[in-house]
Amino acid sequence: MSYTLKVLEKAILKNPNEPEFHQALTEVLPTLQPYIDANPEIEKAGILERLIEPERTVIFRVPWVDDKGRVRVNKGYRVQFSSAIGPYKGGLRFHPSVCLSIVKFLGFEQIFKNSLTGLPIGGGKGGSDFDPKGKSSREVMAFCQSFMTELHRHINENTDIPAGDIGVGGREIGYMYGQYKRLANSFDGVLTGKGQSYGGSFVRTEATGYGLVYLVCEMLHQHDNSIENKTVVVSGSGNVAIYAAQKAAQLGGKVVALSDSGGFIYDKDGVDIEAVKEIKEVKRGRISEYVNYRPKAVYTEGKGIWSIKCDIALPCATQNELNADDAKELIKNGCIAVGEGANMPATLEAAEIFLKNGVLFAPGKAANAGGVATSALEMSQNAMRLEWSFLEVDHKLHDIMVNIYNSISEAAEESGQKGNYIAGANIAGFKKVASAMLQQGVV
Ligand code: NDP
Repeated sequence: MSYTLKVLEKAILKNPNEPEFHQALTEVLPTLQPYIDANPEIEKAGILERLIEPERTVIFRVPWVDDKGRVRVNKGYRVQFSSAIGPYKGGLRFHPSVCLSIVKFLGFEQIFKNSLTGLPIGGGKGGSDFDPKGKSSREVMAFCQSFMTELHRHINENTDIPAGDIGVGGREIGYMYGQYKRLANSFDGVLTGKGQSYGGSFVRTEATGYGLVYLVCEMLHQHDNSIENKTVVVSGSGNVAIYAAQKAAQLGGKVVALSDSGGFIYDKDGVDIEAVKEIKEVKRGRISEYVNYRPKAVYTEGKGIWSIKCDIALPCATQNELNADDAKELIKNGCIAVGEGANMPATLEAAEIFLKNGVLFAPGKAANAGGVATSALEMSQNAMRLEWSFLEVDHKLHDIMVNIYNSISEAAEESGQKGNYIAGANIAGFKKVASAMLQQGVV
């Protein structure tokens, strides 16, 4: 049995009841074998055995009081996965589904993603099973303050710099930053995704969605194609989805569908992004309300967004939201490219089907790296105590995404798997981390 499969088999046994983490390991480890065959020192140094074990995991109680005066308790997590190439960096997710398996899968993916950005950031992830949906702002603040009261002991601007993710946007980052500052007595760049008035970077809000579209456009360009006049379906209607849709439309695509966990809208004339922003960012409402703005649009409850005919599919909601049947349907309807805005939205089977059928497939760890890359730019601006303009940050983001495409494309080709950007992203991300680990000894 190969080294990567041995490590995978052992990891699955050692970490029972962690299906999402197993899935991430299964997606990554076997693709590294060709690179490891060419670099046997990696096996000798036990690099994979060390890389799949987080450097540190913190699980903690988060007590808070709701508006009715009742005491509520949630679980908090921070998995500090790898600091081989820089301080731990990765988002915080607040969603009822959050558990150790999900935080570990996200943290593991983050190591490779952060390496791909070319910036000095290690991998981490965290969050809570707290659900901000339906809570008052006071309740969200009470939760965030309690969460940070414990988390602040484990983070600082040189050790671990969390950011947002599902359920954690500008409001939550603001409350957590306020509490951190009070406890640490330090105004520093410990969180990214901050508001513009207190150290946030231009473009951070837009970065993951914009970056996704920049990378997909580069992938199409390298295949003598473009997004112009293409029909685009985007799942989700949160931070990543909204700005992916906006950039796709700005660059000439026609976005006809968006969704949330309740259902999806279809607007054949092209989705009105400003209406979606008002519903989601201002009113914190449901995507079903879109038909009040555009009566000709259709809302359908439940899953099914992937049955809409499109040229380009951008899954931007959550893990495993696009399965093998969805992939087959997309292909049948003529889909030519898929870019993962979310983390691991396509199941292993779905990704395999796209590859086998020649669909251009950009995996999340490359395609959605624009968010964390811009977070790293926010860290640089905070450290220098200055602010770059929107255009400056947007240019840097664009260059980073083009570089990421080039590096995953080259790595795929070098390993004899031309066009397989899953393998390309895994190998390109792994190389730098493995090299750093080899030089730092057994730690
Ligand atoms: P948001 O919370 O802003 O939006 C999430 C969207 O996905 C919402 O529309 C939500 O619908 C939907 N959604 C969430 N969970 C489910 C579910 N179980 N089933 C169906 N729909 C669901 O999160 P983000 O946009 O920030 O994140 C989306 C994805 O992108 C995640 O996978 C995240 O890890 C990834 N990502 C985010 C980055 C960022 O910078 N924000 C960076 C890189 C990756 P509803 O409101 O109904 O729950």
